[in-house]
Amino acid sequence: MMRAAGIQINDSEVEKIEVVDFGLSRLSIEGVQVFTMVNTDRLAAKVLVLFPDQTEPEHWHPTIGDDPGKQETIRHIWGDLRFYVEGPDTLKEGFIVPGKENVYTLRHEIVLEPGDQLTFEPYEKHWFQGGARGAVLYSFSTTVRDGLDGFSDPEIQRLTVFEKQ
Ligand code: ZN
Repeated sequence: MMRAAGIQINDSEVEKIEVVDFGLSRLSIEGVQVFTMVNTDRLAAKVLVLFPDQTEPEHWHPTIGDDPGKQETIRHIWGDLRFYVEGPDTLKEGFIVPGKENVYTLRHEIVLEPGDQLTFEPYEKHWFQGGARGAVLYSFSTTVRDGLDGFSDPEIQRLTVFEKQ
């Protein structure tokens, strides 16, 4: 999907794509695929992929010690993408993950076109969802500490745990 979106990604980098299921073990419903191009102690640039109807859960980026929290700009590149932010209920194209009505609190829908971008300040809640074709987007931000993000869903564990069988 990244290559279909025109993003250059080398074969060795494909191996490094992070597949995130938020500890919920139902990737195709709630999850995201992440290619990190750079993440230093000051900045990060990533490509995110959502499969069709896949949802990245509602979250925010808190203050961590001296760091005021992640400031993030996302830019839509390819496919069908909607974001949910604070504001009046305009949810129309997307859907709340069934059974999760209480942990997806934001209902203000923004349908993005390729080239559209949004910026989130620390603590600004958001969640997003791929439409019929899924979506490819950029995420540019200050340094990323995904393990410390806040999530509305208490069942979420951001760092993937592999259990021994
Ligand atoms: Zn975010």
